[in-house]
Amino acid sequence: MRHFAIVGSGPAGFYTAEALDKAYGGAARIDILDRYPVPYGLIRFGVAPDHQSLKAVSKRYDKVAESAGVDFIGNVTVGRDVSVAELLDLYDAVILAIGAPHDRKLGIPGEDLPGVVGSGEFVGWYNGHPDFADLDPPLDGTHAAVVGNGNVALDCARILSKTRHEFEGSDIVAHALEALDRSAVRTVTILGRRGPHQIAMTPKELGELGHLEDSAPVVEADDFPPVEADDALEPGQRKSITILREFAATPPDPAKAKRMVFDFFAKPVRIEGDGKVERIVVERTELDEKGAARGTGETYAVPASLVISAIGYWTPQIDGVAYDERGTKFLNENGRIADRLYAVGWARRGPTGTIGTNRPDGYEVADRIAAEMPVEGGFDRTGAAGLKQLLASRGVMPTDYDDWRKIEETETARARPGSPREKFVRAEEWLQTLGR
Ligand code: NAP
Repeated sequence: MRHFAIVGSGPAGFYTAEALDKAYGGAARIDILDRYPVPYGLIRFGVAPDHQSLKAVSKRYDKVAESAGVDFIGNVTVGRDVSVAELLDLYDAVILAIGAPHDRKLGIPGEDLPGVVGSGEFVGWYNGHPDFADLDPPLDGTHAAVVGNGNVALDCARILSKTRHEFEGSDIVAHALEALDRSAVRTVTILGRRGPHQIAMTPKELGELGHLEDSAPVVEADDFPPVEADDALEPGQRKSITILREFAATPPDPAKAKRMVFDFFAKPVRIEGDGKVERIVVERTELDEKGAARGTGETYAVPASLVISAIGYWTPQIDGVAYDERGTKFLNENGRIADRLYAVGWARRGPTGTIGTNRPDGYEVADRIAAEMPVEGGFDRTGAAGLKQLLASRGVMPTDYDDWRKIEETETARARPGSPREKFVRAEEWLQTLGR
């Protein structure tokens, strides 16, 4: 019997567990560890609450967790409660699937002013991540700015622009719903340091902006290259640009109170304000011969009492695990970090790709492990039994999948009408639900 520990219960962790379970056909025990008693990582804490169809993928992960060879072990923080070296003693292989939860910094003056938040913090706040329950983003000003031209920037801008009514059916947490309902924000400026052709937004997500109840997109036609240039784009990107061109050709509906302004060729240079953010100063850019943003020297201020930087994420380092400083992920070769130590998902590739990208990624690493570690052979590892003993000696009480179901049932039972759940937003509430 082989024993595997997967650290992190997000999409990358679950696809890898599914793949290992299949590859070993019952001859392996797979433990998925998470620092929280609630699984699914990015699905719970990252995917936008108004994108419930994307969250439905967790049903597939439920099936994996319920399969005989797989266990969920929550409430265990690797690096604090147990080290990677200890896990390697207990398991045949350890697979790090910890994602990339930390916000990249803009690295410009004024970034530390109150009112400047990372997208991970903002998204965590409206999605009930316990680390950001008290973020309290300032929503009392009329202007907000979101830096970045990726899908996360779109998520943040859309959430700031929706009406209470548009959150029906979502699982946005109550504190965020109430705060957004009271919000004074009327203009959300989305800042891109390059042009429309360089956006990292996908058509479906972009198209949604054209159908918001009380907000209209504003795009400058002058920002586009001649329409013939779109022919060279790959089909998905061409679709996105076509949507942006439609936005540019449509005057914003005067009946809508809010605007979502796309400000292209605008590179943040500093953030200013008296004790809190009041504006973000940007430099006009143009594309250089390599397609990078080159400053023109012209600067202007964009008013904003909330600035959200949505410019990517990084994976935290773990003692003793090789780290790729430039790429902000673990140093690995096709998923292999060191002997019996692997990485999957964003911890392997960096913070790009959709949830579905993690499936082939996890299967590839699982197949590699299966090829390197046949069912027979290796040392006799103790797996979960040894881990639980070690944790008990340290006063750590892990939770299991049944505990999660109890939490889930309670969250479902206390949901407001039409919403699938009302998440607990404090870590101690999860444990209280379990009578701890
Ligand atoms: P992303 O797609 O990599 O976009 C990051 C954006 O930040 C880019 O536009 C980048 O511009 C910009 N940027 C980086 N550094 C900057 C700086 N210093 N100043 C100004 N702008 C800067 O990352 P993401 O939006 O965080 O998304 C992460 C992944 O999750 C993506 O693969 C995304 O598609 C996926 N995702 C998918 C969904 C969905 O399917 N619904 C939702 C959310 C996220 P440059 O191009 O100029 O570098």
